[in-house]
Amino acid sequence: MKSQNLGSGVVRSDLEMSDGRTIRYYDSKGQVRSAKDLREKEEQPGIGELRLDPLVNEWVVMASHRQSRVFLPPKELCPLCPTTSELLTEIPDSNYEVVVFDNRSPALRAPIGDWALPDLVGPDTDAGTAAGKCEVICFTDSHGGSFKDLSERQVLTLLEAWKDRTRELSKLPYIEHIAPFENRGEEVGVTLSHPHSQIYAYSYIPARVEKMLSAAQDYNLSTGKVLFDDVVAREIRDGERVIAKNEHWIAFVPYAARYSFEIHLAPLTPVADLSELSDEASAAFPSIALEITRRLDGVFGIEMAYIATWHQAPVREGRDLLRLHWQITSVRRAPGKLKYLAGSESSMGAFIMDLRPEQSAEQLRQVKL
Ligand SMILES: [Zn+2]
Repeated sequence: MKSQNLGSGVVRSDLEMSDGRTIRYYDSKGQVRSAKDLREKEEQPGIGELRLDPLVNEWVVMASHRQSRVFLPPKELCPLCPTTSELLTEIPDSNYEVVVFDNRSPALRAPIGDWALPDLVGPDTDAGTAAGKCEVICFTDSHGGSFKDLSERQVLTLLEAWKDRTRELSKLPYIEHIAPFENRGEEVGVTLSHPHSQIYAYSYIPARVEKMLSAAQDYNLSTGKVLFDDVVAREIRDGERVIAKNEHWIAFVPYAARYSFEIHLAPLTPVADLSELSDEASAAFPSIALEITRRLDGVFGIEMAYIATWHQAPVREGRDLLRLHWQITSVRRAPGKLKYLAGSESSMGAFIMDLRPEQSAEQLRQVKL
């Protein structure tokens, strides 16, 4: 076992799984991790393909090897619960705080040997291999748990794990962009109901980040300023869409939100990515993160399906122009009503918002905690 002290009193211990993957335990209470993975050794799945959609110059990952992955297993067969005498799971120990390991059916994986993206030559662009990393982060060993039900201590340990993964994945030569996210609810395509977060580390800059980078570059060229900083300044000035604030963070429904319930949480001292967050900003994250996720569930008094994603600057490009922020979008617009990405959104990328963001912010603020 290899151990390492991280910030906020978190210790990381690495162990090898039976198929050669690494499981990293992030602990805050001095736990010693030594449980062995007793499962049979399994073949690692193959690597997928990257194909260019030349009409928009966007990469599409072909990951057909993932079709056979487990789909919504019952609790007794949950691979993300700790191991018991009845079931050997992905986590060999009988309990955990936070664990991180490579996804068993990754869409992106480490390439063999030297790797480069193919040159873009329209429809003649070669296919590439889908290089990258897909990691699973389990942040509670309670199967029926939820992010909003964590303690502040647990959220801080999770934040240290996100920071650690960002630092480490940034060192890989084939990684260009790192996106930690959580899908919650079957409505957004969750295939394992045990609450968990994931990290996609891409070997290219994803389309939306490319677009954000280009907007930030244009703005910087014409004003000399950083676009995201001015966006936050505007939200503070307007005030009516702000839903929570503390000394280090601000949460707001953005001026041009696309979903009825969309919340952005940004540090007040801007940074490029999680690895740059100060100890003070880290310590102030759990309380506001829990507050806004509780407000979200409080709006209709039901568990809201959501996607919560960390936007970070790419690993090598635009470090001074793109800023860290956490974006939560819910597909629910009312009890019994979901937002589907239909004709306008899916085909044209033209969003129609069903509620004024000011009204959505007011509903979120009104929630009694
Ligand atoms: Zn479970």
